[in-house]
Amino acid sequence: VAPVLRVSGLSVEYRTARGVVHALDDVSFDLAPGETLGIVGESGCGKSTLARAVVRLLDPSAGTIRLGDTDITHASRRRMRAARRDLQMVLQDPAASLDPRWTVGDLLAEPLEIHGIGTRAERRARVADLLRKVGLPPEAAQRRPHEFSGGQRQRIGIARALALEPKIVVLDEPVSALDVSVQAQILNLLSDLQRTLGVSFLFIGHDLSVVEHISDRVAVMYLGRIVELGGRDSLWRRPAHPYTRALLDAAPRIDGPSAPAGPGLTGDTPSPYDLPSGCRFHTRCPIAADRCRREAPVTRALSPGHLVACHFAEGGTPSSG
Ligand code: SF4
Ligand code: MG
Repeated sequence: VAPVLRVSGLSVEYRTARGVVHALDDVSFDLAPGETLGIVGESGCGKSTLARAVVRLLDPSAGTIRLGDTDITHASRRRMRAARRDLQMVLQDPAASLDPRWTVGDLLAEPLEIHGIGTRAERRARVADLLRKVGLPPEAAQRRPHEFSGGQRQRIGIARALALEPKIVVLDEPVSALDVSVQAQILNLLSDLQRTLGVSFLFIGHDLSVVEHISDRVAVMYLGRIVELGGRDSLWRRPAHPYTRALLDAAPRIDGPSAPAGPGLTGDTPSPYDLPSGCRFHTRCPIAADRCRREAPVTRALSPGHLVACHFAEGGTPSSG
């Protein structure tokens, strides 16, 4: 099946007073129809930059983004407006992204109006249908976003993103601001919506258990690069990159011992203004060798669909947990 999204060699650089930040470096992945690809990493790893570049809120400095057959890397504002029908985004804080003066009904109808879809009555019916899909009563249309809880506001944000029946929704930390019990409800809602609508998700998160819960495949990012990408189970059972192993060791396991299984990560994240030579992880890697300081590892496949960027990664050792 042809991917709905294909990102190749994507790089983003910012120029700031302190120098150039290489926020994203040579990032490549595909997204299949109806699939969820999770993107995980510590803050500052470039995952939000990746989300914003994919929906073209940021201009990449190199690489390409293809939406189906269409190259949108340098699409004009007008062409991007058309592309938005297929490519929507949900942000972390729904309150900040929803205009408090509007009713929920107005917020959900607006994308339909912009794209000239339906009569007023048809749009109203569509709004009621969207509310039902995300588990809110039809009366919610008359109220304003601030009258709802955080979890309900995120349901409204998701409904708005789905209004145009997009092929892809990019979700940037969509549950990070919510209580754990509410997180589970929203993740289950997303899974249900994906099953019924066939939409693809690019799911950005820093919480491993959240990303594991929702994703079919996972990409692990470190300092602007994807260091490992694979099927969720393959990655969790046989993490091959030392950074992935450290992340997994440091994370509490639902079904394992409550204490972390290993030392996790030591040392600070290097400054993005002054990236380490060779492998960017060498300053924190427990098995770094001379070669790692000189030579950046090339991304290679350990098994079909399981990619890793490390000189010394082999088939992957079973995780200690
Ligand atoms: Fe560690 Fe070297 Fe692999 Fe980088 S290339 S992760 S420093 S072993
Ligand atoms: Mg972020």
